[in-house]
Parts: sequence; structure tokens; C-alpha cells
Amino acid sequence: MLSYLDPARPQPWSSFLEQVDRVAPYLGKLGYWLETLKHPKRCLIVDVPIHRDDGSLVHFEGYRVQHNVSRGPGKGGVRFHPDVTLNEVMALSGWMTIKSAALNLPYGGAKGGIRLDPAALSRAELERATRRYTSEIGIILGPGRDIPAPDVGTDEQTMAWMMDTYSINQGGTVTGVVTGKPISLGGSLGRREATGRGVFIAGREAALQQNLELVGARVVVQGFGNVGSVAAQLFAAAGARIVALQDASGSIINPAGIDVNAAISHIATAGGRLIDFPGAEQIDNEAFWDIPCEFLVPAALEGQLDATRAARVQTRIIVEGANGPTLPVADDILAERGITVVPDVLANAGGVTVSYFEWVQDFSSFFWTEAEINARLESIMVAAYKAVAEVAEEHKVSMRTAAFIIACTRVLAARDRRGLYP
Ligand code: NAD
Repeated sequence: MLSYLDPARPQPWSSFLEQVDRVAPYLGKLGYWLETLKHPKRCLIVDVPIHRDDGSLVHFEGYRVQHNVSRGPGKGGVRFHPDVTLNEVMALSGWMTIKSAALNLPYGGAKGGIRLDPAALSRAELERATRRYTSEIGIILGPGRDIPAPDVGTDEQTMAWMMDTYSINQGGTVTGVVTGKPISLGGSLGRREATGRGVFIAGREAALQQNLELVGARVVVQGFGNVGSVAAQLFAAAGARIVALQDASGSIINPAGIDVNAAISHIATAGGRLIDFPGAEQIDNEAFWDIPCEFLVPAALEGQLDATRAARVQTRIIVEGANGPTLPVADDILAERGITVVPDVLANAGGVTVSYFEWVQDFSSFFWTEAEINARLESIMVAAYKAVAEVAEEHKVSMRTAAFIIACTRVLAARDRRGLYP
């Protein structure tokens, strides 16, 4: 996998800044406020010391960035990964500002993370790291201030520990401080699947727009975690063929179609690695990018589609499950080649949308059925897709720039109305 930790490669925050610059010509008078988006409101770096199970002491570095809160509290995931940096978290928080506004959710953008490898820690060590991190960043969290959720390397258990730690420090249970919680602790039905479901809906809408038949369409997915696996399941359920998958263990291919549920069960078994899945053949990680398909779904980490890969991929539609998988230079090449990119800030917004539902349900202590949640998610995603497609058509710009136009207009109009303090 291409890594932005390689100093020769562009950093995620520079990609975000470049995307913001591309919107400038379309903002009219609101352009006066554009610099706001280039300066995260608040960046907190915290030391996370824990005792290892063997009694030794280890320190990790943790971050929480609130990029913009003009339209509401900060909202964004928490990532546990060995490559987490402040630069990455800043970019991810910026994309959350854009995503919340593009979907018209009443949130700003935030993100957090700890630079650690969750696979190298025991469950007890992970719990200690999560609790210490939550306590350290607790001064800027709260249901009306900043609401974390799961991201790469974190899950509903992480959110349960975060909610419990924050609640203990507050002296009472505060379910609305995080989303993506277990159902038994005020979580929402449908949240675990929401991001992958949104990716599928966005891909389906793009196919509809291009008169592309889903049945029999070939789909290639990078990242087979929460987002990638659910998106693959839904594409397969709609009759598409999942011809290749890649995760941290390697890449596999089966032109006749990979049995997605069997691959998920295989990984769920102790020590099961995607690359050993018996229903497909292993292929080289770089050859993965040459596989012909109708849909390519990057659902792992940032910066995967660079100029070289953008010139090589053999697909019609890229649906970005991951945040920031395509570099700006690659966007231009893909546009020239006529490949549609449904951008992250739209395609993977299903997660934050159902997080919003969870937050609302926690406030009212009244919980909706899964059918209600999926129906509301469907209508919000479809409306957002159509709005972005319309703006793209109107200005003859990419769907990414169109989503940024809609989002930046909303964020900067709020900034303009609120004015500057003092
Ligand atoms: P996850 O931890 O559940 O899965 C991550 C997947 O990426 C795993 O399959 C892992 O093996 C794979 N991966 C990691 N390193 C890799 C490498 N070097 N090469 C290839 N694959 C690699 O995480 P997730 O929640 O599915 O998140 C995936 C992406 O989706 C991230 O960019 C995240 O920010 C984004 N996203 C997640 C959510 C959410 O609700 N979880 C919402 C919006 C966006």
C-alpha cells in the first residue's frame, strides 16, 4: 500500500488544502471567509501513557482536532493505527466539516486518533489506552461540543469505553457524547452497516445516472473492514460480482465472483487472513490496480490513487469508501479519462448520517426501527447525490468540487452570519 509516511509523498492536509482552493472561484462573496477552512479551530495533542500487561510502561501520542464548528458541534471518528499523524487527523477533520455540510447535518468537523497498532495490544491494554486518551481529550468533548465515532482500528467496544470514561468524569451517564455505540448502550440499529450502505447507495445512483446495469457488474474493493465488507455485501446482494479484494494481508481475485459472506466468516475465524481465503487466488498487491471492473471501491486509507494508478485503473466508477483515497493530481487524470469519482465526502457519509440519527435518538431516549433508519438514510443519501450531481453539471466540475461548493457555501454562510468574535 502507498504510504503518506514516505516523506516524498503528498500529505493528506495538503490534499485537503488543494481541494479547498479548487472551490474558491465558485463562492462569490463568501470567498472572503475561505481562509477559515485552511485553519483548524483547535488541535489537541495528548500523551497516552499505559502499563503494558507485562508491567512495562509505554507512551503513545494521541490527537483530537476540531476543524470547524460553525454549523454545530464537531463530529468525527477516532482512528487507532500505527501511521496516525497530526497532519492526517487535520485532513480527516477537514473532510468531516465538508461531509457534514454536504449532507446538511447540523455538525462541524472533527477527528481523532492514537498512533498505535491495535493488533499489537491486548484487549486490556487497548481499554487502558482508550480510557486514558478519552480522559485527556475530555476537556473538549461533549454532546454539544464534539462527538467521536469509530474509524479505522476502533469499533463499538471502543465507543463503549469512551462513553463510560467520559460519563464517569462527568458524574452521570452521557450517551450522546459518542456515536457508533453498542445497541445496549444507546447505539442505533443500522449504524455498523451505515457507511457501507451509503457507499452502495452512492454507487447505485452513479450507475443509474450512467445507465450501467448493476447485475453482473464487476466490483473491486480495497479494504475489507467495516466499510469495505458491508459495501461488498450490498453490491453482491444487488447482483454485482465482487471480483477482487485487498486488505492489509494482501490481495485476492476470483473473476467468477468472491463469496463475500464466506470471506467475512473466514476472517472472523481465529487468525483468519483474507489472503488465505480458499474461494479466490492470491495476486500481487500492485496488480490489484489493473483489474478490469465497473466499480472500484477504495475503502482502506488515504492517498491510494496517485497519478500512476489513476492512469492505470480499468474502471468506470470509483466510489470512495475511504476518506481521502484519491490525490488531487489523480482526480484530474481520472476526469480526463472519463472515470466518475463519487467523492468520500458524499459516498461515505452514510456513517455520519446514522451517527446523527443515533445522537438524536439518545437525546430523545426514543429509538427507531432499523427499517426507519435505513429508509431515512436512503432518502438523505439519494437527495445529497442528486444535489451534488446537479451542481457538477451546472458548473461542469467534478463531483468532488461540486460537493465542496455545496458544503463550503453552507459553512461559510454560517461563519458570515455568526461574525467574528470579538
Ligand atoms: P476498519 O479498520 O474496519 O477496516 C480497514 C480495512 O483496511 C481493513 O480491511 C484493513 O485490513 C485494511 N487495510 C489497512 N491497512 C491496509 C493496507 N496497508 N493495505 C490494504 N488494506 C489495508 O476501518 P473502516 O471503518 O472500514 O474504515 C475504512 C475507511 O473508511 C477509512 O478511510 C475510514 O476513515 C473510512 N470511513 C469509515 C467510516 C466508519 O463508519 N467506520 C465512516 C466514514 C469513512
